[in-house]
Amino acid sequence: DLKMIYFVTPTYPRPEQVPELTRLAHTLMHVSRLHWIVADDQPICSDVVFDILRRSGLPYTHISSPKPFKYQISNFPRGVSNRRAALAWLRDNVHEGVLYFGDDDNTIDLQLFDEIRNTKKVSMFPVGLIGDYGVSSPVVTDGKVVAFFDSWVDSRTFPVDMAGFAINIKFLKDTADMPYKTGLEEDMFLVSLGLKIDEIEPLADNCSKILVWHTKTLTKKKPSLNIDVKMFENFQK
Ligand code: UDP
Ligand code: MN
Repeated sequence: DLKMIYFVTPTYPRPEQVPELTRLAHTLMHVSRLHWIVADDQPICSDVVFDILRRSGLPYTHISSPKPFKYQISNFPRGVSNRRAALAWLRDNVHEGVLYFGDDDNTIDLQLFDEIRNTKKVSMFPVGLIGDYGVSSPVVTDGKVVAFFDSWVDSRTFPVDMAGFAINIKFLKDTADMPYKTGLEEDMFLVSLGLKIDEIEPLADNCSKILVWHTKTLTKKKPSLNIDVKMFENFQK
């Protein structure tokens, strides 16, 4: 039988939130054996997010996990407290399956789900629309990951995007930790798993195909009517 995919999405309120989550929900609705964990960067789970989850018909877990106060001013790092909360929930409730971090601003080809479902330890694949190079990807030689192509390598051991890997939950040891370190979230998380480069399973045709993009819907001009969706609906009544 098919392994479950646990799809973890951190999210926060802004004008693009509902359209982004609607698009993501409509992708995930095509995937069997998928459990959506939406971790809300809010003091309480928001109604608009709950409504999208409920109407998707997907099995889901809706977690409220606002960032600690000291990260509220700079608003960096982004989506860490909520991913950490999702990891804690997984550790307490799930013992097998595959974990994937899919942000609300990503676009995913359905083919990716078939590929990540069989992840043994950690699988990796290219992500489109990342950084100055426009793609972030492992470099594969003879079916093995030997290096990384990414416009910002810095001191990172695994210079990859959050949407560029999947993990078998059995490999998610107690040491697994996502730190509050801007830009190092992916790398430090993968290092905390004790991952070695030769253990990485390259997907997407030896990392030659892009099956996920960091679409990042950005309204060039911020909408002037920056109001809550529910407020708008009530206003129309
Ligand atoms: N996010 C969040 N709280 C915030 C900012 C972002 O939960 O205050 C979420 C956001 O919805 C997304 C993820 O964290 O799913 C990454 O954020 P974003 O896409 O803004 O950052 P970037 O991709 O530029 O690192
Ligand atoms: Mn993003």
